[in-house]
Amino acid sequence: MMKLREVLPMFHYFDSAATTPVCPEAAQAALEAMTRGWGNPSSVYAFGREAARVLAGWRADVAGALGCEPGELVFTSCGTESDNWAIRSALAMNRRAGRHVITTAIEHAAVLEPCRALEREGYEVTYLQPDRRGVIAPEQLEQALRPDTALVTMMLVNNELGTILPVKEAAQAIRRSGSGALLHCDAVQGFLKIPFTPRELGVDLLSVSGHKIRAPKGIGALYIRKGLKLPPLILGGGQEGGLRSGTEATAQIAAFAAAARVGTERREEHFQTLSRLRARAEEQLLREVPGLKVLTDGGAPHILPVTMPGYKSEVVVRYLGDRGVYLSSGSACHRGRPSHVFAALKLPKAELDGVLRISFSPDNTDEDLDALVQGLAGARRELFSTLS
Ligand code: PLP
Repeated sequence: MMKLREVLPMFHYFDSAATTPVCPEAAQAALEAMTRGWGNPSSVYAFGREAARVLAGWRADVAGALGCEPGELVFTSCGTESDNWAIRSALAMNRRAGRHVITTAIEHAAVLEPCRALEREGYEVTYLQPDRRGVIAPEQLEQALRPDTALVTMMLVNNELGTILPVKEAAQAIRRSGSGALLHCDAVQGFLKIPFTPRELGVDLLSVSGHKIRAPKGIGALYIRKGLKLPPLILGGGQEGGLRSGTEATAQIAAFAAAARVGTERREEHFQTLSRLRARAEEQLLREVPGLKVLTDGGAPHILPVTMPGYKSEVVVRYLGDRGVYLSSGSACHRGRPSHVFAALKLPKAELDGVLRISFSPDNTDEDLDALVQGLAGARRELFSTLS
């Protein structure tokens, strides 16, 4: 099985928050699911029953990595689907509580767009605003809770800043206030990056995605707290406990399970590697690239948001790309439009224009770091700055 460095010998990839390469174990598991165990888990003969047995094992693997029971985990096609489903069905379930939703201004589009659609349908949505460093204070949620709040949806780790949001405190505030609001968490960027379980957080619903943890694209999962009777997303043959019908995507699920197993086994080692890479990058960039600022530190170990005030981030990203260094000017999902996350920090314009998201994977080496630092130092020397 090819290793990342053999596939991309010329690349220095610092965009792991956008997507990750599939790890060899996941690719192997998908291949086996497609070539050997390709039976339909719903078939009643032995070959199908075997597929169902193996599928149950994969579910247990992902649930184990997440720290929940296998019966609390439903496979979906991606994090976006999990987010949309969670939000819609939580509100359908909690119709009697009211039509008020609380979220944050720095959620991913997979949460913000469903919230905007809800507003068009007459729901009221409160968007909690971060401070300059991207921090949302638990008291903000406490103050926003109302008797008619039906849902709070708050991400665990912000995908552009790496900041950790106070999800556990949100659950406590909801309980303290006696509110009947359900709590959903988009944990796509937190899964296997920071330690948590859905139960420790106290959430009702939680979304994860495969392609952020070295599984293929096209697979995700939704944690549904035991006892919560969520309305089905797709009706049909009754797969996924009747909640999401459709023959299971066994190859993707096999790969997701393998990536989750590897990620769990190596969680501590990966955490140490990412933390070291991030600290080294921060230290070297501040030394070698005058003017560069770190926007916020602490938080998740795999994301370092910086800005080069006076430099246009898209120009810097292209300059670096031409030199084989890949990073992002913000979330990969907004294609050139200014990032709502950085905008929410209310940065001065020169800082806002120059934001870059550096995100690490455990595959990154010191050689990659050197290329990144040299690339950004070169960009600063060679590109036109609007600051005099
Ligand atoms: N939520 C967050 C925080 C993300 O970073 C992403 C992907 O970038 C998503 C949701 C969407 O996940 P997917 O790409 O699996 O739909």
